[in-house]
Amino acid sequence: MAQDERRNGGRNDEIGGQDSIESRIWGLIVGENTNEVGLTMSANAAKPRVFKNFIAGKWTADGTKGHFDNISPADTRDVVGQFPSAGSEEVMEAVAAAKEEYARWRLVPAPKRAEIIRRAGDIMSARKEEIAQLMTREMGKIVVETRGDVQEGIDTAYYSAGEGRRLFGDTVPCELPNKFGMSVRMPVGVCGMITPWNFPMAIPTWKIFPALVCGNTVVFKPATDTPATAVMFVEVLLEAGVPEKAINLVCGGGSSVGNALVEHPDVPVISFTGSSDVGKRIASVGGQQLKRISLELGGKNAMIVMDDADLDLALEGAVWGAFGTTGQRCTATSRLIVHEKIADKFTQRVIDRVKKLRVGNGLKDGIEMGPCVSQGQRESVKQYVEIGKNEDKATLALGGNELTSGDHAHGWFFEPTIFTDVKPNMRIAQEEIFGPVLSVIRIKDFDEAINVLNGTIYGLSSSIYTRDVNAAFRAIRDIEAGITYVNGPTIGAEVQLPFGGVKATGNGHREASHTVLDTFTEWKSVYVDYSGKLQRAQIDIE
Ligand code: NAD
Repeated sequence: MAQDERRNGGRNDEIGGQDSIESRIWGLIVGENTNEVGLTMSANAAKPRVFKNFIAGKWTADGTKGHFDNISPADTRDVVGQFPSAGSEEVMEAVAAAKEEYARWRLVPAPKRAEIIRRAGDIMSARKEEIAQLMTREMGKIVVETRGDVQEGIDTAYYSAGEGRRLFGDTVPCELPNKFGMSVRMPVGVCGMITPWNFPMAIPTWKIFPALVCGNTVVFKPATDTPATAVMFVEVLLEAGVPEKAINLVCGGGSSVGNALVEHPDVPVISFTGSSDVGKRIASVGGQQLKRISLELGGKNAMIVMDDADLDLALEGAVWGAFGTTGQRCTATSRLIVHEKIADKFTQRVIDRVKKLRVGNGLKDGIEMGPCVSQGQRESVKQYVEIGKNEDKATLALGGNELTSGDHAHGWFFEPTIFTDVKPNMRIAQEEIFGPVLSVIRIKDFDEAINVLNGTIYGLSSSIYTRDVNAAFRAIRDIEAGITYVNGPTIGAEVQLPFGGVKATGNGHREASHTVLDTFTEWKSVYVDYSGKLQRAQIDIE
């Protein structure tokens, strides 16, 4: 079972056995054909919006595998909407349309394609609050963060639009006279985009904007926990002027829609962000057809706090890094590696601060941490807490329980949780938990800190707090990770720098920055011989 299926208890990914939508009492008051979203709950107007897939230029409501409900994790009485659950038939249709449009779109000059993407950024700016509110409802992170998620998409739009006038290749001298050499980027074709739920706008934009600017067309399969944000994104693209068949949205399960995309011979590129288990599967299935597969996978990120660090700064960084997005970021600070000289005092300060975190519905003012995304995800966090409690000598210093009463009664809330006395080889220090759980590990010096940080299969983000510039540069050199922060937490990437990780976090591709262009273009080397005679490279040398 794919991770999103597990986390939903199979709720969304494979359809069947669901409550009838009409049987729900609480719902969203919104017309079927409007974009207006609201949070008012009323027993009188309990009609959730019916959302549609966008395939071959048409919005289509029915999925061949039925439909699924998208339910707010902060309040399971709140049905965000009903979504079609597609299967391989819809994937075939979407790919055929995208392939047809590719023949036209690849010939539109890149600066013109980029103008459309810039307009998409403008539209997202105008709709930022609306998108952020909907995103918080459907996946739970606090609205301050969902605004940031949309902003990252806007930044990516403008950055990608700039690439429309760059897409740099090289011109180089040729070894033979009267001969010209250059390299150019060519689009690849239909790109299959498979995305997770934790950054439902930013991650799709990281993939789809640059792919379109490069002249590719797209079939987009979002996570089943966040299809509403995906629908809004496609609306934005269409309004901006992306040709109808260049963008196709196919909602549905990973093992049906996702797998059909990976297996389809007319999809030469798969850009996937999600768990390492699913990523490995995609690599092996797509690898059979020698596809280009970009994988952005899990992490077990660590922050080192040295004894010379600014501890006030490190405290804020640790709390934000570990409990921002309820710890459900691929870059979340999951391990806090603290120098023994300051460990007791600093850890106590972290515990005292985290105790005060206000947990609740992310749409409400003052809330600092939302729920887990689903029942399955909360269950997985709970299981890791049990594992931690049973591991030799780890101490559960804070939290460890589900929150199930009062304001938390109807959501998938979990207490911010801290384990101390954690040893580097324990499971809670090795495996991605993807929830609000922080493991504190003591070290005696810099070398041990780096060894512990590097001692997992992952290598996404990392951080060191120190005032020693030499230690900072040694850390930059020796840490095995795609991202290293000095005096900042493990989260907070900016779109103009490459994003991705080493080891089991990926397969060497990078999103964001200009580096993402390598996923969505093929290099072509061009030789123009204007000598009027046969000139043989490496042979006709004067
Ligand atoms: P997931 O792997 O369960 O699902 C990701 C996507 O893959 C979903 O759209 C899902 O439906 C689809 N999928 C599932 N099975 C599939 C299959 N057999 N074939 C094709 N597609 C399939 O991950 P998730 O729970 O949505 O997200 C959390 C994970 O994503 C964490 O491990 C996190 O670290 C990772 N993540 C990584 C990054 C990064 O950039 N490195 C960013 C965000 C999240």
